Amino acid sequence: MFDRIDHVGIAVHSIDDKLELYREVLDLTFEGTEIVGDQGVKVALFEVGESLIELLEPLDDDSPVADFLDEHGEGIHHLALGCDDIEGARRRALEEGGMSLLSDEPLEGAHDKLISFVHPKDTGGVLLEFTERRGDD
Ligand code: ZN
Repeated sequence: MFDRIDHVGIAVHSIDDKLELYREVLDLTFEGTEIVGDQGVKVALFEVGESLIELLEPLDDDSPVADFLDEHGEGIHHLALGCDDIEGARRRALEEGGMSLLSDEPLEGAHDKLISFVHPKDTGGVLLEFTERRGDD
């Protein structure tokens, strides 16, 4: 079902403050930033082979990522598993895993992907994101 770690999401106070680290020091390919309104965040994506690092900066205090930063400070926010069938992944998590999904249907994520989050209480404390790539990338 899942065939890759699509990306690791990292919560930051300011993407601008972290660009030098990821672009210059770690020398990762910067794919740009975009706004993901559903999640109340600005994201910056960096390529690491077939996976990505996704920096998440809250757009305002109502963003779930703002709450995360208040509670935990900057750091790893979620782990995204990539698949080609997000509906199947959701069904399996619900019906076979009894897991709580954080949305009633897949949401629009960064990079034109469909995403769904699973509640960390069902995954040993990890906020898991299911990701389905669309198009041909
Ligand atoms: Zn993500």
